[in-house]
Amino acid sequence: MVKTDPICGKRGIIEAYGHYFCGKECISIYEEKYNIKRERGYITGAKSEKWYREKTFLVILGLIVIKALFVIISAIIIAIVTGLIYQFLDKKGLIESNENVVEINDDFLILKDIKKRWKEHRFSLVNVKNGVIDIIRNHELIYK
Ligand SMILES: [Zn+2]
Repeated sequence: MVKTDPICGKRGIIEAYGHYFCGKECISIYEEKYNIKRERGYITGAKSEKWYREKTFLVILGLIVIKALFVIISAIIIAIVTGLIYQFLDKKGLIESNENVVEINDDFLILKDIKKRWKEHRFSLVNVKNGVIDIIRNHELIYK
């Protein structure tokens, strides 16, 4: 086997395609000359493009999800901090307190209350109509 680079004619060191090449540059030139698609190192043409598009999509999706999570978590943190500040100010009597607060027992559970009310309530057209009227009246009472 002749160890001569078929591209530049120098002494070949790296074996590829049944020839010896002096370096990677000459292998690339040889590949181009004989239309050889490289199998090793990187994936060829359309395949790599598809892979790239899929990866890009996943990365963008990931960024959107991270951004969305960031916004949601920020909102929750801001809400908690605002609530704590409000409670603190309310305790110190520094802000106007709501006169329409309903005092509740310590053992009050909203789910239990909903269940109780749900059982007690009879659904009929008249009841629904009265309910709507009640809501409108109470709303007017609160905001007058
Ligand atoms: Zn060479």
